[in-house]
Amino acid sequence: MIEKLKRDYAELVVRKGINIQKGQRLSITCPVECADFARLCAEAAYDAGCREVLMRWNDDELTRMKYLKAADEVFDVCNPWVVDYLDTLSAEGAAFISIYAEDPDLLNGVDPDRIKRAQISSGKALEAYRARMTSSECPWCVCSVPSKAWAKAVFPDLNEEDAVAKLWDAILASVRVDGGDAIRNWNDHTEELRKHVDILNGYNFKTLRYKNSAGTDLTVDLPEGHYWSGGDEKAGTGVIFSPNMPTEEVFTLPHKDSMNGTVVATKPLSHNGTVIDGFSFRVENGKIVEVHAEKGEEILKDAISVDEGASYFGEVALVPYDSPISNSGVLFFNTLFDENASCHFAFGEAYPQIEGAENMSRDELRERGANASITHVDFMVGSPDLEITGITHDGEEVAIFRNGNFAF
Ligand code: ZN
Ligand code: ZN
Repeated sequence: MIEKLKRDYAELVVRKGINIQKGQRLSITCPVECADFARLCAEAAYDAGCREVLMRWNDDELTRMKYLKAADEVFDVCNPWVVDYLDTLSAEGAAFISIYAEDPDLLNGVDPDRIKRAQISSGKALEAYRARMTSSECPWCVCSVPSKAWAKAVFPDLNEEDAVAKLWDAILASVRVDGGDAIRNWNDHTEELRKHVDILNGYNFKTLRYKNSAGTDLTVDLPEGHYWSGGDEKAGTGVIFSPNMPTEEVFTLPHKDSMNGTVVATKPLSHNGTVIDGFSFRVENGKIVEVHAEKGEEILKDAISVDEGASYFGEVALVPYDSPISNSGVLFFNTLFDENASCHFAFGEAYPQIEGAENMSRDELRERGANASITHVDFMVGSPDLEITGITHDGEEVAIFRNGNFAF
């Protein structure tokens, strides 16, 4: 049974995640440990008319080894053939699948300076590629399958085999692969998300006000012409794709200079291979001016200082507290899942969700309030008592979230 479910999942990723087109090339990033799932994706893609599947393999142990043992200067260079590969494929409109299964604490204890420098060098070198991804010029999809180390981090009390099996169950449930028609399930789900998107876009809120007992007390202005999205996206090539599997969020961008107050994270965050926990930010005119973390404070401070835009925000996302991933009670230590169990923000790069963005320059977008950065990090702020109130341009106050869930 599980073999059929894995096949259904791979087909879902290929047909709805990237929506592969005849003659299109596909790049798959995958840990070697999860090669069987990459093969299923490749086969589904070829069967749908994909021209060529190109693999980018990685391996947690080799990644950690490199950070510990490689010559120091390599962290300041992004290899030109990597840049060439991603630039060439994204320029021709290829599709990208990223299979993510990293050990959440993979780089614990590694020199944070090496991590930061590697992020800066690749961030700068891959600017053109990243811009094509954030503006959805090419279809892309991030999905996950269990690795042993990740499964053990999620279910530390189980043996490895049981932990992997249980993580498979949780992942398949989150993407609604249940042995029935997975594609139809996914279509029904994205239609549900679209209902909230339409309501939010109808109000065209000027400001959102957040409050809960965890200590979040924050106002967030939204840029003029912003719009909310959820579930699926339209690529520059015209095809509809779903960039995240699972997805439960509806999201837009904040005005980068107009967030004020305190925001408190309600879940740990695995970032750059290190778990950060118990953290909060104080924000003034959009900029993070104070950071506290009980665990991983140095990594967090590095994360918001990789460039100027890293200390400003780029995403506002709404996820009901009462939603399937949240109700599963599983803490995944993987942002793809944890962000879809909780309202969240991201610091760093904004997805340019402003009407007419495709005809605006980077400078024009920034002027409208869209943040620019080489980084984009989601962190979770949802709680059972979270209240979010929207304020329209006429000053009308509308309850968006009450008791952690949509009020409409
Ligand atoms: Zn998000
Ligand atoms: Zn995000």
